[in-house]
Amino acid sequence: MGMEPLIETVDTFIVDIPLRRPHVMSFGAPDEVNFVLVRVRARGGIVGWGEAATFQGPTWSEESAETIQVVIDRYLAPLLKGRNALLYNPLMEELEHRFRGNHFAKAAVEMALMDVAGRYLGQPLHVLLGGAFRMKLDLSWSLASGSVETDIAEARDMMARGHRIFKIKMGAGPAEKDVAKLALLRRELGPEVGLRADVNQGWDRRSALRALRELEESRPDFLEQPLPKWDLAGLADLRHKSAIPLMADESLSDAHSALEIVRAGAADIISYKLTKLGGLARSLAVYRLADGAGLGAYIGCMIETSLGTAAYLHFGAVLPRLEYGCELFGPLLLKGDIATKAVAFADGQVLVPEGPGLGIEVDEAEVERYRRR
Ligand code: MG
Repeated sequence: MGMEPLIETVDTFIVDIPLRRPHVMSFGAPDEVNFVLVRVRARGGIVGWGEAATFQGPTWSEESAETIQVVIDRYLAPLLKGRNALLYNPLMEELEHRFRGNHFAKAAVEMALMDVAGRYLGQPLHVLLGGAFRMKLDLSWSLASGSVETDIAEARDMMARGHRIFKIKMGAGPAEKDVAKLALLRRELGPEVGLRADVNQGWDRRSALRALRELEESRPDFLEQPLPKWDLAGLADLRHKSAIPLMADESLSDAHSALEIVRAGAADIISYKLTKLGGLARSLAVYRLADGAGLGAYIGCMIETSLGTAAYLHFGAVLPRLEYGCELFGPLLLKGDIATKAVAFADGQVLVPEGPGLGIEVDEAEVERYRRR
């Protein structure tokens, strides 16, 4: 083995990439995704990249592209200079000890360090992590155009290309309309497709209970985060009153909140996102806890480029159980990408990249093209 990959420079870029169509969710309808890209250069000319995706400000979480960039530039990056990128776990724990929260910022940094480590060792990240259980993940496509007709047309188009799982975004309008929409999709798309729904914290206990009862006949695979993230008692109550499995997304931010979810009996399934959980190592720790408690697994997204999507895919590859697949469709919904070769999709699945590190080559001309000025 050659010289250790000591970190020489850490650069950040804010990149804004438009969506092919607005994505309507309970809290807003972003028409672009705002990324912070992290480029880590290490001794020997090794370059690794990381990414954090946000929806136009602190909307989904408390972090925005602007806060992520300043936290990395001013606080995280100075501690990384001169350190060995191979030792990313102790390095990330040091950052965790020194600086609170800011999970998206930390996840983007960890992603770049893991990319450097994989490239240095000449191995894909899933090999560094101990080996893949799968190299293809079942893909769910999110229907969120804001128009039922467009959603149905979009779903039919995706079905013609082999897609079999769809997630409907709810909570932007009255719950009754959401219920009627899912019933219509079930009728139009047939009994075989997998249908799921995500409310993004948009309901209160009463409307959620009423909606859950009416949603049952449309047979959704699960209902995601119907209540505000803090209302674990409410989620537990809904879970006992409905046959539809409940998924926790926003309620989960770390191992402590995972333990609270388990203790409260607030969910059947967990949605994993590398950014909200502060990185891949922490996501694996949460997975062990939740999986040990019998909760199912699903990989969510923040509409990442091929770069961020690849990191999520390596995570998905090394989970022993991934019962509900993933929604890593970001590269298909974004108008542009920053990879020389995008992540591959086929027959309703998304493929784990095979190259060293994250397995994605970043095209710096595309970074420059979408870079905020
Ligand atoms: Mg969600």
